[in-house]
Amino acid sequence: MAGRHLAGPDGTPAGSTDLTRSSAAALAEALAAGTVTSVEVTQAHLDRIDAVEPALHAFLHVAHDEALATARDVDARRAAGEDLHPLAGVPVAVKDVVVTRGMPTTAGSRILEGWVPPYDATLVERLRAAGLPILGKTNMDEFAMGSSTEHSAYGNTHNPWDLDRIPGGSGGGSAAAVGGFEAPLAIGTDTGGSIRQPAAVTGTVGVKPTYGGVSRYGLIALASSLDQAGPVTRTVLDSALLHEVIGGHDRRDSTSLPEPVGPLVESALQGRTGDLTGVRVGVVTELNGEGYQPGVRARFDEALELLRGAGAEIVEVSCPHFEYALAAYYLILPSEASSNLAKFDGMRFGLRVVPEDNPTAERVMAATRGQGFGDEVKRRIILGTYALSAGYYDAYYGSAQKVRTLVQRDFAAAFEKADVLVSPTAPTTAFRLGEKLDDPLAMYLNDVATIPANLAGVPGMSLPSGLSDDGLPAGFQVLAPARADARLYRVGAALEALLEARWGGPLLDRAPELPTTQAAVAAEGSAR
Ligand code: GLN
Repeated sequence: MAGRHLAGPDGTPAGSTDLTRSSAAALAEALAAGTVTSVEVTQAHLDRIDAVEPALHAFLHVAHDEALATARDVDARRAAGEDLHPLAGVPVAVKDVVVTRGMPTTAGSRILEGWVPPYDATLVERLRAAGLPILGKTNMDEFAMGSSTEHSAYGNTHNPWDLDRIPGGSGGGSAAAVGGFEAPLAIGTDTGGSIRQPAAVTGTVGVKPTYGGVSRYGLIALASSLDQAGPVTRTVLDSALLHEVIGGHDRRDSTSLPEPVGPLVESALQGRTGDLTGVRVGVVTELNGEGYQPGVRARFDEALELLRGAGAEIVEVSCPHFEYALAAYYLILPSEASSNLAKFDGMRFGLRVVPEDNPTAERVMAATRGQGFGDEVKRRIILGTYALSAGYYDAYYGSAQKVRTLVQRDFAAAFEKADVLVSPTAPTTAFRLGEKLDDPLAMYLNDVATIPANLAGVPGMSLPSGLSDDGLPAGFQVLAPARADARLYRVGAALEALLEARWGGPLLDRAPELPTTQAAVAAEGSAR
């Protein structure tokens, strides 16, 4: 990389490698100071994508030209002295379940292959308005159903820490893109853990905002009462910056909260001072016992000690109904999903399969759905329609909704005793590709610790707690009451600062180098 260094006014070099290694906050500062342009930052990430995508496959679509066009536009506006958003010019990757005008959007499904949305999701409009170049669309489990990205119709994404392992799911593409230094920022969606669990197993930071905190307009719905979009980044501060861009009221989403998302960046900056005096941290008994990998628990316990050292008061809280959260979720989610997915009928979007023999509308729909949906999607549609059918509705869907209320009450009681709740994010580190693919129940168990937050609508963050005994990243989850997302950032940033002081730098610095393609290596050489 020598020879490509751009010297800043203070003499600090910022070469192309450093650009992809920089946090979004550092890039924003360099852009504002004029030591680097958005075209340079964006190009560095596109080069990195070209180089490591053959190994990672985090993207379903890379938007080279559009990203550079936005970057050029931002650079021109900056040069003209325009007042820009702090993140203007910092590129972002977007999970493929979020609709993007003019950019293919598949939600990881064959049934949407070739569909190019005519409009932008609200959050995408906000990214564009703030001047963030969109690098492309990231891989995911089909319609966000899964914990490993193996249910994508377009192939596996690989974990940057170990290419034989899963990057988590459903948002494995966004997490691998950020963890693999292809993007400084990414958008994920979290219905039962799909932002937080991928963050946990890739050593990145992921935040599920309070339900209603980020508009769902333009998200391809999985389960509308649970879905929430949020940031995937490498630092807590970067998540706060991105969350502030995408959050806030939207009249096109009837469940959108009226108030602004809160002083998130400010809380992250406050947290970085490392002082948590007076903050009550509740350890959830039910989310930290049997079934959790010993190394994951050990890193969790060490992180608790750091929080205690920073002045936090550690209390034990019990949430007895969390035990039933997973079961309730796997009735509520398929019920809502079966209804949401009814619109994919071969008439309106994407794929249409016309049977040769007697192609009535009904037979076209059946053939299209038969070929267009994968096994996991079909499994959940069958489960959902069954749970909602007359005669079973009360026994299944009705009971699950009652459990949901009990989980919400557990949270309400726990937040009387604690300001935030904590647990490991996922019971284990990344498992091997293929290991759980034939065992849906084992796959579902990855979400035991993340699902309660979705059922109750409360916000949650996952940040790295260290490496487990197997050398792979483990996640630390922080949960806060609804509309108190700012607390996640304060506590998360404090813990991150304490852990990084102990590690001597970010955890991701310890990830192995990824193999790059010959072509990319040659291009690097000629650029020197
Ligand atoms: N893994 C969970 C599921 O399969 C979570 C999905 C999500 O959050 N989108 O439903």
